[in-house]
Amino acid sequence: MKIDLRSDTVTRPTPGMLEAMFSAPVGDDVFGEDPTVAALEAKTAALFGKEAGLFCPSGTMTNQIAARVHARPGEEVILHKLSHVYYYEAGGLMSNSGLSVCLLEGDRGRITAKDVADHINPDDLHRPRTAMTEVENTMNKGGGAVYSNQELAAIGEVCRNNGLKYHLDGARVFNALAVTGQSTRECGALFDSISICLSKGLGAPVGSVLLGDHEFIRRARRVRKVFGGGMRQAGYLAAAGIYAIDHHVERLKEDHRRARQLGEALQQLQWVSEVLPVDTNIVIFKVKEPLTASMVTGKLAEEGVLAIDFDRQSVRLVTHLDFTENMLDQTIDIIRQLKF
Ligand SMILES: *Cc1c(COP(=O)(O)O)cnc(C)c1O
Repeated sequence: MKIDLRSDTVTRPTPGMLEAMFSAPVGDDVFGEDPTVAALEAKTAALFGKEAGLFCPSGTMTNQIAARVHARPGEEVILHKLSHVYYYEAGGLMSNSGLSVCLLEGDRGRITAKDVADHINPDDLHRPRTAMTEVENTMNKGGGAVYSNQELAAIGEVCRNNGLKYHLDGARVFNALAVTGQSTRECGALFDSISICLSKGLGAPVGSVLLGDHEFIRRARRVRKVFGGGMRQAGYLAAAGIYAIDHHVERLKEDHRRARQLGEALQQLQWVSEVLPVDTNIVIFKVKEPLTASMVTGKLAEEGVLAIDFDRQSVRLVTHLDFTENMLDQTIDIIRQLKF
């Protein structure tokens, strides 16, 4: 059997989750008649202290909708150059919404309030108007890095003082909260909009939820339709999301511990040059030249462990719901025995 550490998206629904899906009451959600979708949206919004939610097929869509609602064509978004919204959404900010970007650098994918403040364009007809700032927490490309509550609040203050909208790509926000201990409501209060993935660490098969105030979500619903994301009896999927929020949040700490143990094991190997700090469920390590990441992932795959080569020298491993204690032990044995 393969041990799949390519992503936390590879999980299959658990028996309990499938049962919840099978028994969900459903209706046509484009007509606003699916009670389970409505329940998921209300539950998630209440959890984060936001007025409303919108269930969407993917986190790419929730992020893209947020940008479309928050900004007009020709305006600019401030974000990290490795953020999912810029790096992994196929140029959607530009093609979907005609937006310009201001790309920041920053430690492990995290931007700072000072950098945001320094990059807001002046009111000058030559420059695009800065409309929003986006942060990603946890930060995938930074190895699951977590922002401090202080920095998130400081960035929020800069946004507020300058009339910018503030969006959180919280694909893995529950992983971040498990580390900082911040409550969902405290988190919700910081942002104008939040995107949460149900299909990552939470283990649902499909879906993300976008949160914001009533007016934002009313407009977002329209954009979702334009983007082709209106779904009909989507309650079967929303039921998986509700189940995931009820049952799979507390256990994220286990994923974090297993990731840490993988990181510690990797640290001891002479062919590994660096392991990024392991804050959550993502482990990124660099291999020594002349080894390349793809040579390592190829060798791992032969041994039944699937990983992703993230760039030429870096390999990513992600722990998740379907990665058991037993698999952890096996994986550590396998990586220790690799010979190059
Ligand atoms: C996975 C992910 C998304 C959304 O991805 P989809 O595959 O479109 O659901 C957004 N942001 C981050 C940081 C992600 O890891």
